[in-house]
Amino acid sequence: MAYYVNRTMFKHLVGNEQVKQTFRRLIAKRRVPNSLLFAGDEGVGKRSFAVELIRSLLCKDTTEGDACGVCPACRRAGTFQLPKPDDKDAFKKVIFSDHPDVGMVVAQNRNIAVDAIRHLESEANFRPYEAESRFFIIDDADKMNDSAANALLKTLEEPPAGSHIFLITSRADSLLPTIRSRCQVVRFAPVETTEIERFLIDDRAFTPDEARLAARLSRGSIGRAVSINVEQVRKLRERMLLAVANSLETHDRAGLLRISEEMNDAKNKEFFEESIDILTSLLHDIWSIRVSRDPSRTVNADLADRLSSLAESSSSQDIPDWLGSIQEMRENFAVNINRKIATDALFTSMSA
Ligand SMILES: [Zn+2]
Repeated sequence: MAYYVNRTMFKHLVGNEQVKQTFRRLIAKRRVPNSLLFAGDEGVGKRSFAVELIRSLLCKDTTEGDACGVCPACRRAGTFQLPKPDDKDAFKKVIFSDHPDVGMVVAQNRNIAVDAIRHLESEANFRPYEAESRFFIIDDADKMNDSAANALLKTLEEPPAGSHIFLITSRADSLLPTIRSRCQVVRFAPVETTEIERFLIDDRAFTPDEARLAARLSRGSIGRAVSINVEQVRKLRERMLLAVANSLETHDRAGLLRISEEMNDAKNKEFFEESIDILTSLLHDIWSIRVSRDPSRTVNADLADRLSSLAESSSSQDIPDWLGSIQEMRENFAVNINRKIATDALFTSMSA
């Protein structure tokens, strides 16, 4: 299994212009701190930025701080062969890229092994093989348990002069405060919907319609946007739209419970949360049309006519009530409540 960063140069990374500017300044002055903490939501590109920063420092042919992306140093530093997820020992070590001075620590089963952090410590004290410094990324750094975190803290307290350690996390609050305070924090913002849309069209050959839908369902995450299967989304959306119509137009309680049944069927289990996300987006759209009379700003803009007529059929209470019930249901899932019973209850309330 390989992880390859093929986005070359900062200017091709999507969003977070401010972070790019900061990095360009640090690179120009050759003043990149020894420990950086990349904090921000899942899927906004933190890991790609970290690899790109490293490449910019290794590249022999930079343009205004941007790595060239094609020289041997750039290519090797961007190529990581990640081990198989069930490989028992591979995650207890730093996983090096094809460049001997660039390595990454990765969690296995939501856990970063203390051995991996100890290995990082000893590697960070070696002199670089070819570069001026050595670089280590700790991905999902919040997945360090106490002993791993304490081992890292020791390294951060006496940072080896020739090494940089970049921590990446979407849960900065779960890190030890003593670790946070020893790193300079780089904050990442969610990526603008229009930027994601443009990226999907230009770089991933989405049609404008698909890009619009995927971008708006992505909640500011490039990672989520590229993994959205638009065909699948359309299918699920058809079912959720039918649920809303059963509720608002035909008042078909049996039909609603059939859809609940389907969603919880073993073969559809993996799409359950996506279905609920889509249902939520439809309800938001119907509500916004009801309030603004303007369907142009909806997530599901291609369904504007259908959504407008559903908005006509809804009362002022329906949509806010259901959105509230969905929110409550999501919170209940966090405490492991039976999904089928909860969906039935939601859909029953929608048929009342
Ligand atoms: Zn290069």
